[in-house]
Amino acid sequence: MSLDPEDWGAVRALGQRMLDDMLAWQQTVRERAPWQPVPEEVKARLDEPAPRNGMALADVYEIFRRDILPYPTGNLHPRFWGWVMGNGTPTGLLADMLAAGMNCHVAGFDQSAAVVEKRVLAWMKELMGFPEAASGLLVSGGTVANLNGLLAARTVKAGFDVREEGVRAGPPLTVYRSSETHSWILKACETMGLGRRAFRRVPVDAAYRVDVSAMRAMIAADHAAGLRPFAIVGTAGTVNTGATDDLPALRALADETGLWFHVDGAFGALAAWSARRELVAGQESADSLAFDLHKWGYMPFEVGVVLTRDATAQLAAFQAPEAAGAPAYLRSVRQGIGREATYFADRGLQLSRGFRALKVWMSLKEQGAARIGAAIERNIEQARYLASLVRGHAELELLAPVALNIVCFRYAPRAVPETALNALNQAILAELQLRGIAVPSQTTLDGRFAIRVCVTNHRSEDGDFAALAEAVPALGAELLAAAQSPPRPS
Ligand SMILES: *Cc1c(COP(=O)(O)O)cnc(C)c1O
Repeated sequence: MSLDPEDWGAVRALGQRMLDDMLAWQQTVRERAPWQPVPEEVKARLDEPAPRNGMALADVYEIFRRDILPYPTGNLHPRFWGWVMGNGTPTGLLADMLAAGMNCHVAGFDQSAAVVEKRVLAWMKELMGFPEAASGLLVSGGTVANLNGLLAARTVKAGFDVREEGVRAGPPLTVYRSSETHSWILKACETMGLGRRAFRRVPVDAAYRVDVSAMRAMIAADHAAGLRPFAIVGTAGTVNTGATDDLPALRALADETGLWFHVDGAFGALAAWSARRELVAGQESADSLAFDLHKWGYMPFEVGVVLTRDATAQLAAFQAPEAAGAPAYLRSVRQGIGREATYFADRGLQLSRGFRALKVWMSLKEQGAARIGAAIERNIEQARYLASLVRGHAELELLAPVALNIVCFRYAPRAVPETALNALNQAILAELQLRGIAVPSQTTLDGRFAIRVCVTNHRSEDGDFAALAEAVPALGAELLAAAQSPPRPS
């Protein structure tokens, strides 16, 4: 008995309805609140044991429509600016559907999906200014892309065979990055068995860029102490404020010290596709560059990219060496379906891999890098516009320079003491989200709670930012008034 439907006609009709529904849902996204909580009764309904016996697909779909579809993260909405998320596009939706339909296994093989992934990687190199001979891989996202780059760095720069001997066989390995580097680096150091102590946290300047001379001094001190520094990590677009490190200076420091230079450009790297590419200048000189297309590339989750300048370094980090005994069932015989020499599974952690490349290929074919770049440029302008609204409002305060697409600000009327501002702004942020006005997120800068707006949203209009700049002081005044009025009898 196969799992295929008995009545293909019914599934086809239902599938067509699903597609219609999803396209309509994306088209009308602005009409709904950016976010609303999952009601308790919905959670209760979904809390059921593993189904032993099935039900009709049409009934399952009705449950999806009632209990699942209405309660998403909200990142498709034009007023969603929290954390760093992308919005997807109808093209991305359709491409993911087509890729799921083909259900290719993209470890390698002589197949169209591998040809397309190779082409997409070539485009990424071209658009990011990497040499044609560089290597690369599509992965789940920035965390894995960054880990991939750092594993190549470790393999090449450790000075001993870490893969064979393990990290204990040599001096402690250390990696240098700023206090603003995203927390992927902690997971990476833990996962690589280096321990969190391996990452050296270098202070930043007033613009949240790494202090390069402090980094130089730390590397020298660690060398002198018998440690083995192996990599420098720069960031193009930090999560907190959107700052970009002085990447040319970090490249020079890496050359001077013989270290690997990795750049985390999870979202910032995409600025290179826009007319404002000077904002991330220097990232193209990295030994490895990690970035996401599911953030500022506006493609659906999940898709991240790692590019590695020296193609042999990526293979050195992941390919099973013959001596280590690549298992017979994976050894490639260059014939038949295995004729194709590009074996993506030799470039990263995953063996079974899906056809992520299709949504990238389709989005670029349809929109072109110029159109995506124009949307990125508009987001940079919108961040500046919001910052100008904040500066122009007596009761709003900008908390960090706006270097790229992130605005950190707060409601700070003179009458309210500094000690009360953090709680007040936290309450304003919660109200913005709960009332369905907008979804910024938060950060804390020098102890000050900031409402943080990250613009990686191709659906936002200027009016959305104007609405936010009006809502924040209005909510602030409302919350202050409510706190001053005597509590109502309960
Ligand atoms: C999002 C992000 C990451 C992690 O990427 P994921 O795709 O979420 O795994 C790393 N660095 C920066 C700067 C990011 O914004």
